[in-house]
Amino acid sequence: MAKIVFIGRSNVGKSSTIKTLTGKKLKIGRRPGVTLKPQEIRWGENTIVDMPGFGFMSGVYEEKREAIKDSIVKYLEDEKDISFAVQIIDTKAFLEIKKRWEKRGQIPVEIELYNFLNELELKPILVANKIDKIKKDRRDETLDQICESLDLLPPWRQWKDIIVPFSAKTEEGMQELKRLIRKKLENID
Ligand code: GDP
Repeated sequence: MAKIVFIGRSNVGKSSTIKTLTGKKLKIGRRPGVTLKPQEIRWGENTIVDMPGFGFMSGVYEEKREAIKDSIVKYLEDEKDISFAVQIIDTKAFLEIKKRWEKRGQIPVEIELYNFLNELELKPILVANKIDKIKKDRRDETLDQICESLDLLPPWRQWKDIIVPFSAKTEEGMQELKRLIRKKLENID
């Protein structure tokens, strides 16, 4: 039995990804920023933990957003039985946000989170979601840039055990994501 944490900014498609993966509809009434609590979802003999979305949410005050971030950090640090993490990003938005933040001299939260998950040895799988929104001939370049920002030396195809281009909408990448999760599950003692 494994505990897998799903984590990402709000609106990256975390709920959609969990839903396509498990076939389970998530609890309704989970408007962004409403809950600080991670939600546990049974998935066969394993448990998926749906973490609250972090980052900008319209209608949610800065203070609440900070509280969400703090609660996520605390949960990840305190829970000793997490097997690994699945970090979901919006492939296109990730690079746009990165550019904006770096202009201000700041490290984007998603990069910080990825590094933090690695520090905690939660060896994240990175789901590059909404890949359907990127033209086919731009995908390699985009994924290379994402890898580079995470200190994963391009080409991205070297890192196929870490990053998976995915679309919760078209279900592209579903088999590959399942393969990566299975592989991690096999390596848990
Ligand atoms: P969450 O806040 O991270 O849980 O995000 P949701 O799952 O609620 O999705 C946010 C929005 O992105 C919704 O409008 C989804 O329909 C849309 N979305 C999610 N995944 C994809 C995807 O792979 N491709 C596209 N084009 N849209 C997506």
